This record gives sequence, C-alpha cells and structure tokens, in this order.
Amino acid sequence: MSIKILFVDDETRLQTLMMQKFRKEIFTKKYSLVFAQHGAEALEQLQADSEIAVILTDLNMPIMDGLTFLAELKQYKETSDRIITPIVVSAYDDMTNIRKAMNTGAFDFLTKPIDMQDLLLTMDKAISHNRQLQHAQEQTRLAEEALRITNEQLEQRVQERTAELEAFARTVAHDLKNPLSNIISSAEFIIHARSELSEAHMLRFISLIEESGRKASQIIDELLLLSTVNRTKVQSTHLNMSQIIEQVQNRLSFMIQKYHSHITISEEWPVAMGYAPWIEQVWINYLSNGLKYGGRPPHIELGATRLNDKDQIRFWIRDNGLGIPAEAQNDLFTEFTRIGERKVEGTGLGLAIVKRIVEKLGGEVGLESQVGYGSEFYFTLPCEKA
Ligand code: ADP
Repeated sequence: MSIKILFVDDETRLQTLMMQKFRKEIFTKKYSLVFAQHGAEALEQLQADSEIAVILTDLNMPIMDGLTFLAELKQYKETSDRIITPIVVSAYDDMTNIRKAMNTGAFDFLTKPIDMQDLLLTMDKAISHNRQLQHAQEQTRLAEEALRITNEQLEQRVQERTAELEAFARTVAHDLKNPLSNIISSAEFIIHARSELSEAHMLRFISLIEESGRKASQIIDELLLLSTVNRTKVQSTHLNMSQIIEQVQNRLSFMIQKYHSHITISEEWPVAMGYAPWIEQVWINYLSNGLKYGGRPPHIELGATRLNDKDQIRFWIRDNGLGIPAEAQNDLFTEFTRIGERKVEGTGLGLAIVKRIVEKLGGEVGLESQVGYGSEFYFTLPCEKA
C-alpha cells in the first residue's frame, strides 16, 4: 500500500522539487505526496485525509509556524488515536528550535539544504517506525476485540448456567413437593377422620406416609451424592471388578430375587482405573434400572470390551426390556428425566449420578437401544496404566 506523505512548507518550489525527486516512488505507488503551506492548512488536510502517515514540516512559516503545528499535531494525535510520524526541516544551525521540535513530538529532523540521500534514509526510518506502531495498534485492537468477545461469551455462559440452576432448583422443589404433599394430606386426613377410619384404612394411609417419606429422603440422598461427586477429589486405583460386582449383587439381592431375574456375568474382567465405591454405585444404578425396566423376567448380561483405539475399557449391561426410543435417549442422563412407566419407583437421578461419576473418573457414558430389542447401557474407564 502506498504511504501518504504530507509536506508542509511555504516555499511552493519544494512541491515541484519533491514531485520530481520522488517521481519513481510516486510512479511505483510506494509514496503519494500531498502539500500544505503552513501549519493550519496542514491540520485541515490531516483531518480531511485519514491516510496521511508521515509529515515533513518546515519550522518557519506564516500563519502557523512549525513548532505550533507540532504542538497542535501532538494533541490531535492523542484525541484521534491516529499514528502520524512528523519530521522537521530546519536551518543547519538552528539547534534551539530543533531541540524544541524534538521535545514536541518530532520523530527526527533534517537540515537545509535538504540532502536527498539523507531525506530518503530518514523517510524510510520514519515509515518503518510508523508501520511498527500501526501494527502494534492493530494487534492491541485485535486483542481488545478478542477480549470483548470472550467477555460477552462468558456473560452469556453465566446467564445460561444461572437459568439451568434455576430450572434445576424448580425441578428439585417440584419433585420433593409431591411426596411431601402426600405426607401432609395423609396425616391431615388421619387427624380429621381417625374416628371413622378402620384399622386397615389407617394402615394404608400410614404406609403412604412412610413410602412418601422414603421417596423424599431418597431424592435428598441422591442429590447429596450428586454434589459430593462434584466436590470430591478421589484417587483412581486398579479396580477389582469381580469383587465390585459381587458387592453390587449382595446389595441388590432382595431386588434380584423379587424380579426372578437371570443375570449373566463375565468371568474375566480387564483391569481399569477408577474409584471402587463410586464404580459400585454406577453398577448399582445400572443394574437396578435393568431390573426395573428390563423384561419380565429380566435377562441381564454384564461384561466389558477393551477399546483398543482409545486406551479405555467399555463396561456394559444389556437387558431384555422394551428398549428406549431414539428421541428419548439423549436426555436420559439429565437429572430428573424419566420416560414411560411412572408406576416404577424412581427419582430420575440414577443415570445423572452415573454420568457425573464416570466423567469425573475420565470416562464416558452412553447407551444403545432399539425399541423392542432391549437396551445396552455402558460406561468407559481408562485402562490400567502400563
Ligand atoms: P429412575 O430409574 O430413578 O427413574 P434413572 O436416572 O436411573 O432414574 O433413569 C431415568 C429413566 O431412564 C428411567 O425413568 C427410565 O425411564 C429410563 N431407563 C433407565 N434405564 C433403563 C433401561 N434399562 N431400560 C429402559 N429404560 C430405562
């Protein structure tokens, strides 16, 4: 791009001389030259033409001399944020004014009569200085712009997170309110109608209170577990998966018998890294779901596959349930998501807990399911370190 240079001098001869001297640069579009006869005119030109980058100014001029012009220019640069590099031209022995000019923001000076070689060198120096400043200014502008965008994105993220938290709080409140309302209304009913209630009726209401109390307490326990997983730092160790699964079967033995389920468990387990108490909880949640939502009777299979390309092991559980429609699969791991049968006991927090635990341990969760063909839920964990 051509550099625009403004010559400020009351000698019109200079104009012709410079046009001549720089005709090659003008022809090749390296420079373009503009002229003013005194400081005031130069200021007007600057305001009208944003491309002027370098100024060559005389000191002795009518109307507005060079030093006044430099002082005005300095102010103009500050207010307009423009990068303009001024060079002064002065008599050889005019040291006092040259010093003043340098103190008023001149980048360099030339002495009269102007030596062409000197002029070219000084001009090149001024231009490269100007370019460096322009570049720095552009970098700053880009950095400021990037910062502004990051801030905006951050602000938006905060708003989204706040909205999510509010939605979460609403759902928690709603899900807790159901069992609590049952407790209150059952208790009120017993208080008011106790004289007319048969013992069997009374027992039914008390059972409802007990059941609802348990449900509320379970929601609270699971919410606490969710937040514990978030806040707790644990050390991953080698997992003995056979032992963990045995423990899971013991904990769920009542449910396993109740559903008359058939469970097939892999004999060999590859060693993965994780935190045993949490992985036990993951299996508990997956297996209890397999029992609750599996076929009647449930046929469940547990196993593992090594994912060679990823240094991860995929642990899976397959059931013979109804399967899950594709459009419902994405949300299942989100808190309080439940689909289908509402009659089955649950809080909608089990899979959210699984996801949080597994991701905290460096793995992923997911499922593959087709309506009518059962489901496979899985989680991955890092392999044993070599
Ligand atoms: P909960 O079982 O307490 O409702 P979860 O978060 O464990 O909560 O599961 C969320 C929902 O996902 C369940 O309500 C159920 O609709 C569905 N689901 C989970 N596991 C299975 C499965 N193995 N087969 C079919 N549906 C399932």
